[in-house]
Amino acid sequence: MSKVRFDRKLLERYGGRGPRYTSYPTAPQFHSGFGDSQYVERAIRSNTPINEQDDAPPPLSLYLHLPFCRTLCYYCGCTKIITRNEDRAQRYLDVIQKEAALHSPMYDRSRQVEQLHLGGGSPTFYSDEQLGELMDTLRREFTFAPPDKLQCSIEVDPRTVAPDRIKALAALGFNRLSLGVQDFDEEVQGAVNRLQSREDTLALLDAARANGFRSVSVDLIYGLPKQTPQKFVATLETVIDARPDRISLYSYAHMPQLFKAQKLIDESTLPDGAEKLALLELSIETLCSAGYEYIGMDHFALADDELVKARESDQLHRNFQGYSTHAYCDLVSLGASAIGHVAHSFYQNEKNTNRYSEAVVDGRLPIVKGLTRDADDIVRDDVIQDLMCQGKVDFEQIEEHFDIDFSTYFFEELEALKPLEADGLVRLADDAIHVTPTGQLLLRAVAMTFDRYLREPAPEQRYSKVI
Ligand code: SF4
Repeated sequence: MSKVRFDRKLLERYGGRGPRYTSYPTAPQFHSGFGDSQYVERAIRSNTPINEQDDAPPPLSLYLHLPFCRTLCYYCGCTKIITRNEDRAQRYLDVIQKEAALHSPMYDRSRQVEQLHLGGGSPTFYSDEQLGELMDTLRREFTFAPPDKLQCSIEVDPRTVAPDRIKALAALGFNRLSLGVQDFDEEVQGAVNRLQSREDTLALLDAARANGFRSVSVDLIYGLPKQTPQKFVATLETVIDARPDRISLYSYAHMPQLFKAQKLIDESTLPDGAEKLALLELSIETLCSAGYEYIGMDHFALADDELVKARESDQLHRNFQGYSTHAYCDLVSLGASAIGHVAHSFYQNEKNTNRYSEAVVDGRLPIVKGLTRDADDIVRDDVIQDLMCQGKVDFEQIEEHFDIDFSTYFFEELEALKPLEADGLVRLADDAIHVTPTGQLLLRAVAMTFDRYLREPAPEQRYSKVI
């Protein structure tokens, strides 16, 4: 079990901006020199095992970005389109199915899809019939694992989905549900333009259980306008009573220069740094004393959840969807702005939906940038994964895997960790780095020590604050 300790002074000192390490190298390193032909080479290469010890290529994971929403939440930093134009959304759905058909011939049919996630935007903008059509196409283009081996998840907007839709989603094969809540307080909801009733949301959770969903997760955000600890604890208690398997607690990053929607937030109503830390402290205390375990950055889960078990058995990974038990899969991502990860390479699709659609309709992959990792990237990724997911780095394991001497290879990094050790974020042993309970809330700051690219100057506003 991962223990976590709140230390206000250290959070203030180390809580500056930093990457979230959903990939290493991180997305700002992607470049336009990586395009369609590089991706095709990697995709075909991925059909033979990359690691010597494997006797088969990894299974596949699919991510589909469905960007449409009916109303704008002012805090939103996602790639989304606010519309009520059903025709436009249908055209996009046709295009994403064409995109699936561009990717699928590159992957051996023997490789099963073990994980599928529909994210957005609001995937439930689409009707059950439209989602059914999409699922049929995906099942035609790829080989799906049997239901007991397939994690099939969908983000659900409780404002537009009635509980009776859950049965239809289960019939389409979905077995995991992710519900956006953020905060139940009406004043906060008004300030971010996301009015959502507690009763409707909880009814969805009940419906998910009644229809055999294996896991339900709830997203919350702290640091929103008009939030106070007294009011936020009421939201936390309501969510805890409903017992979702996972709770994600994100820090609101106010970056209106990057996300236009955030300009609609009245900055004078945002909690200041001290109030935000108070919200975080209260949330951690409330969740942990209610039986939720801290997984790592922003994520909590009940003790019998797969993420907790994966963390205990060193099988937890981090990828674009946060923490995952399936990061060994090659990730084929479809849709505008989507990021995929195949055979030590990353690719990102065009963000603009018109340009994205034009490329696909022309029969071209809409990839605009990416990168292929070099040997140093791969070692560093392993170290960063170990820090973010297990809270420790075992030198011998890395040495055996990569044929390096850890203390020599990472001499500078180990030196750079000494002040963090003095501050109590990590403990440096002769054979390992251990993240302390205090360091657990500052995993990004610890991981940044191993990020070679941060030594190169980069615009500060690219990253949100660590806390
Ligand atoms: S937060 Fe979600 S539902 Fe709201 S606008 Fe952004 S993508 Fe759409």
